[in-house]
Amino acid sequence: MAKSIKEQSTGGKKPGSRPSRDTEDVIPVLRPLLPSAERLLPYLRMIDATRTYSNWGPLACEFERRMAEHFHLPGYGVISASSGTVALIGAVLATAGKARPDRPIALIPAFTFVATATAVERCGYQPYLADINPESWLLDPQHVLSRHSLDRVGLVVPVSAFGRPVLQEEWLAFQRRSGVPVVIDGAASFEALSVSPASTIGEIPVALSHHATKSFATAEGGCVLTTDLRLSVRTTEALNFGFYADRESRSASINGKMSEYHAAIGLAELDGWPRKRQALSAVAERYRQRMTAVDLRAYFVSAPEVAGCYALFCCSSSAQAARVRRRLAEAGVEFRSWYGSGLLAQPYFSDLSHGALDVTESIAPLVIGLPVAVDLTDSAIARVVATIERGVRGDDSPDR
Ligand SMILES: *Cc1c(COP(=O)(O)O)cnc(C)c1O
Repeated sequence: MAKSIKEQSTGGKKPGSRPSRDTEDVIPVLRPLLPSAERLLPYLRMIDATRTYSNWGPLACEFERRMAEHFHLPGYGVISASSGTVALIGAVLATAGKARPDRPIALIPAFTFVATATAVERCGYQPYLADINPESWLLDPQHVLSRHSLDRVGLVVPVSAFGRPVLQEEWLAFQRRSGVPVVIDGAASFEALSVSPASTIGEIPVALSHHATKSFATAEGGCVLTTDLRLSVRTTEALNFGFYADRESRSASINGKMSEYHAAIGLAELDGWPRKRQALSAVAERYRQRMTAVDLRAYFVSAPEVAGCYALFCCSSSAQAARVRRRLAEAGVEFRSWYGSGLLAQPYFSDLSHGALDVTESIAPLVIGLPVAVDLTDSAIARVVATIERGVRGDDSPDR
């Protein structure tokens, strides 16, 4: 059965898109492009030769080495994982451990993808939702300190919303002041971390996702980044049944290892990364030019402000958002609210405890994710922007 939620958005038939035209004509919200079979082949032949398929074999180790080089980290600084969610679980178990009865709560932002809540819940924590800063869309350490009682909080997980950078320094200060461990869900922040690793990678572990929909992708995959050697060892242990160097299980754990096949994709993705990064920024730039031409630049958020896999149109009212959504759907332009209307709007998480969520509740429904692909054409971008313009202007004349 096809999964319809996250990735396979290439075919139309998505809730919220209902194109009224030929599916030919539909512009998918995200059309990932990962390394081709030709580019994978040399790496796959190495797997044939080594007959090592997992357990941090030669390709996973080479992937970690090259990633560490990319982020200017020591060799132990990158621990590969089988997904971003599992990387987060590994980082939490290595940092804070499983939830304890006296501190069962994990404080997380309400404006994030469900994986943040899923991961902390799998480590035994009860997620508690806090609001975000209206400018950065991030959890604000000052705000967390001043507005929330941390007596029963055993973990805080700031999230890089849409890949925006979370700064180590302010969260290290938070950790020192509060005594509460911090783990960063940096899922989509590959680009932000690449631009300024010194301020975004450090003692606090950062979990990255390499899901197909993220800018830097290995289909499924992720990693944990840290400058702390002991934390790196504990993370490796947490992602491998509690084993390290021998087969004694010494800690709470999961099987979260990246396979050699996924590492092969990662290596080929690294080979082609300069070109992919360039293509994603070019798409963002072409969107910006079109948005500027119709005077909508102020509503548009794209790379490098957020990750290159996102092009966000931020409406100014829910009535406007409804009009824009309707226009996009009619025009066969797929779109997505990547974080829905916040975690509390998800059925499974609807009864989570939470603080005041005014910012999340006002912003989340206004952020519309627009189509992105490395090969998104100029005419597709023009069509998306023209459609949005009609929605914004409240022009109810039929499609031309
Ligand atoms: C993509 C994403 C994840 C999960 O990553 P997977 O690799 O799909 O498990 C977690 N948190 C956020 C904020 C994400 O965007």
